[in-house]
Amino acid sequence: MSVSLVTVLGATGSIGVSTLDVISRHPERYSVYALTGHSRMEALQAQCLAHRPRYAVVANSDQAQALQARLRDARCETEVLVGCDALEQVASAAEVDVVMAAIVGGAGLRPTLAAVRAGKRVLLANKEALVMSGALFMQAVKDSGAVLLPIDSEHNAIFQCLPSDFARGMSNVGVRRILLTASGGPFRDMCGADLVSVTPEQACAHPNWSMGQKISVDSASMMNKGLELIEASWLFDVRPSQIEIVIHPQSVVHSLVDYVDGSVIAQLGNPDMRTPIAYALAWPERIDSGVSPLDLLSVARLDFRPPDPQMFPCLRLARQAAEAGGTACAVLNAANEVAVEAFLARRIGFTDIPVIIEHTLECMAPESVQDLEHILLTDRHAREHAQNWLNSHF
Ligand code: NAD
Ligand code: MG
Repeated sequence: MSVSLVTVLGATGSIGVSTLDVISRHPERYSVYALTGHSRMEALQAQCLAHRPRYAVVANSDQAQALQARLRDARCETEVLVGCDALEQVASAAEVDVVMAAIVGGAGLRPTLAAVRAGKRVLLANKEALVMSGALFMQAVKDSGAVLLPIDSEHNAIFQCLPSDFARGMSNVGVRRILLTASGGPFRDMCGADLVSVTPEQACAHPNWSMGQKISVDSASMMNKGLELIEASWLFDVRPSQIEIVIHPQSVVHSLVDYVDGSVIAQLGNPDMRTPIAYALAWPERIDSGVSPLDLLSVARLDFRPPDPQMFPCLRLARQAAEAGGTACAVLNAANEVAVEAFLARRIGFTDIPVIIEHTLECMAPESVQDLEHILLTDRHAREHAQNWLNSHF
């Protein structure tokens, strides 16, 4: 068996750490080519010492000098590179076989697209890239022959429940609809009025999953499920109206596919991202992920209920943006990133998040997408709009 060379974009994050955990269980299959990190330099240093990548990529030259010196002292030959061009370089280098795209937010778009354009096996955790640039992104996958494998647990589950020729079209393979499960986040059992005063700590304390801060807040507002609806519509070429969101508090059923003959196929497992990561790394084979077997008897029951649209307006906003198409989803994503950052910095309250997003969407009518520059410009403008509004209201 030949060894696959892997670049992990966002290695120091939650998905990055889980990816390296799976990789380290299979040294005969995987070797690390590059690791990237934006902060947490001690963690990146420890990862470099453990995995000995050819390159590490950091955000600025101060970080680079310090890390390079410490690695040299430890007799580690990893070369430290800086900035966005270097991210694209390690994502597209000829030697690389697999790229884990696990940078959070719009910052992940360029390097993820670089990996796609270079025809790599791309393990897509960064949902924001697809939300921002779905049409362009999927066209790039077709043009380059890249193998795109979803890491988001719901999309990974759907991918596992679909037939291998699903690209022929959902109706041609007998799919009626997709059921996207949602834990409902930490506030699923609260009433609307209580949401006004929740803190970033409460929002980040997810009941089932351990994740980075941004996606944790998105889960609490259910914008995460809205982004996932858009993500699913691009990945599987389905209309938003064919995707139903179902609250499933146990996070054991990771999503389901409903077929025209009445069969519903689901994927189940413990809520641990190492399962989808291992699946995508080895696909179409299966390898040990380190995740413990699902004990259905101790889970005992599986509950399902509809989401409350009043409690979670982000769901409606995301669905509207998905229906509107064009640049609407890029605007939605940018405004959400600005709002989440402001909430984490305690500048705004939790219930202000959808207000800022709705205002930004109203200010920026959707345009049909021309190219990547157009998306990046829209992203910049939407961030400015959201930020200006925030500055004048809070
Ligand atoms: P995280 O915050 O734990 O890690 C983010 C990583 O991106 C870190 O390595 C960080 O250094 C890097 N990063 C942050 N800003 C950057 C920038 N401007 N430029 C370059 N690198 C930057 O996030 P996470 O929870 O690991 O999530 C990563 C992505 O995967 C997100 O898009 C998220 O939506 C998606 N995802 C995560 C989970 C999960 O369980 N954590 C599940 C599904 C999808
Ligand atoms: Mg998910």
